[in-house]
Amino acid sequence: MGEAKTTQTILVVGGGISGTTAAIEAAEAGYNVVLVEKNPYLGGRVAQLNQYFPKLCPPYCGLEINFRRMRQSPNVRFFTMARIESISGQEGDFDVKVTVDPRFVNENCTACGKCAEVCELEVDNPFNFGMSKVKAAYLPHELAFPARYVIDPALIGAEQARKVKEACPYNAIDLDMQPQTFTLKVGAIVWAAGWSPYDASKIEYYNFDKNSNVISNVMMERLASINGPTGGKLLRPSDGKAVEKVVFVQCAGSRDENHLPYCSGICCLASLKQATYVRTQNPDSKVTICFIDIRAMERLEDFYVKVQADENVSFVKSKIAKITQDPQTGEVILEGEDTMAGQYVKIQADLAVLATGMVPNTAVEKIPLAVQYDDYGFITSDSGVPGLYGVGTVKRPNDVSSCVQSGTAAAIKAIQSISRR
Ligand SMILES: Cc1cc2nc3c(=O)[nH]c(=O)nc-3n(C[C@H](O)[C@H](O)[C@H](O)COP(=O)(O)OP(=O)(O)OC[C@H]3O[C@@H](n4cnc5c(N)ncnc54)[C@H](O)[C@@H]3O)c2cc1C
Repeated sequence: MGEAKTTQTILVVGGGISGTTAAIEAAEAGYNVVLVEKNPYLGGRVAQLNQYFPKLCPPYCGLEINFRRMRQSPNVRFFTMARIESISGQEGDFDVKVTVDPRFVNENCTACGKCAEVCELEVDNPFNFGMSKVKAAYLPHELAFPARYVIDPALIGAEQARKVKEACPYNAIDLDMQPQTFTLKVGAIVWAAGWSPYDASKIEYYNFDKNSNVISNVMMERLASINGPTGGKLLRPSDGKAVEKVVFVQCAGSRDENHLPYCSGICCLASLKQATYVRTQNPDSKVTICFIDIRAMERLEDFYVKVQADENVSFVKSKIAKITQDPQTGEVILEGEDTMAGQYVKIQADLAVLATGMVPNTAVEKIPLAVQYDDYGFITSDSGVPGLYGVGTVKRPNDVSSCVQSGTAAAIKAIQSISRR
């Protein structure tokens, strides 16, 4: 595996929309690219979205274009379930140690699903944020690229593992697969490790951990998705009742010194979009958006205006102070102050959606080089390491189109770095 590449190769770390864009732009310009992704599939968080604002098209429109280009380009090689162990050297001559964790399924897999049919063990489905279970022999999701099954390590050593292996007509399951480590030589590095949702359980007064009818905005994307835990039906997690009244809590932990002091710039648009999920599914539904101020910049303001025009969507200027639950009805009770009316506000609903912000993955998992970060863990514009370029949401919270631009820009920077030598 992974024969050493030359110092003319570009390494891209992270296979979301930012990383795949950077990889494909550099590859189509004639450069060798190796992409390293830690998930078993490419696409990052966008693969988990139900629709894209502002056009409300399926996120796979954009991702599939990148995947097709990758399939057609001989210059890109990618590894999934792979991670960076160490990096040494400098611009033009980096040595990168990569480990690929065992998938226990090889390239013979045709995604026929026979292994899952006989597998009885179920594990939490990480793609649905634990809102559903999945067989321990599973395809990460229906549109996964590569379309190859994965065996959860929990199955290895279990009695039924052999049965699962024998069910495969293509000899694609290898229960003895081991991690593989190799070293790459590359000239430039694009870091596209993306973001994670802020942990809503840290906002104690919203009782996210205690009340299943309080969910986060990323969970809402999965709930609304046709391949999500409810087949796209917006059902109340506590009892499966179809939701009629939904409240969105903006800046849940954001612009708050105790949590994320910055604005993620995306959550207002995400909630406006999710309000359309609710309204489209049930014409009698009611949506309330509790906000500090709505941030919908430039052309995205048109989308805000469109949602505002729906008389069943109301806006309350309030930073919600607490969320509790009505023990009789299971409804959520939100309390705060309406700062426009200057009065206490109390709203009862089926579901509360916390618009949590985006945390750069570089805040948690540092790059093994002397990279410069801002106070929140985002890579600064000049990364401080010549030849290493941050891209997309490791630089700032951003929407998809900005990440695509950022990916293209990073590809050019990496090409310039290589061409200088
Ligand atoms: C609720 C919500 C709804 C949204 N809806 C929209 C929308 O409708 N329209 C829109 O334009 N934007 C939307 N966004 C924003 C959108 O999700 C981001 O712009 C996009 O995900 C950024 O892509 P990325 O590639 O930078 O990061 P990610 O999508 O996070 O991809 C990063 C990839 O890197 C991988 N990775 C991480 N660390 C490592 C590592 N150490 N080694 C290897 N791989 C690694 C990850 O597994 C992942 O695959 C929404 C955001 C939220 C919070």
